[in-house]
Amino acid sequence: MKAKVLVVSEVVALIFGGLVPGFLLGLLAFRVKSRWCPHCGQPTQALPQGQDG
Ligand SMILES: [Zn+2]
Repeated sequence: MKAKVLVVSEVVALIFGGLVPGFLLGLLAFRVKSRWCPHCGQPTQALPQGQDG
């Protein structure tokens, strides 16, 4: 039982060690990408939300 718990914890550590950095990188890339309007290239922070020129 103890050995199984150890294996599970190692698998969880591996999953989190691989997925979390990947997830954060994807999230960061998405946030950086969404800073500019895909249509006109203007910074989206300067525009009111919902009004895309
Ligand atoms: Zn735009």
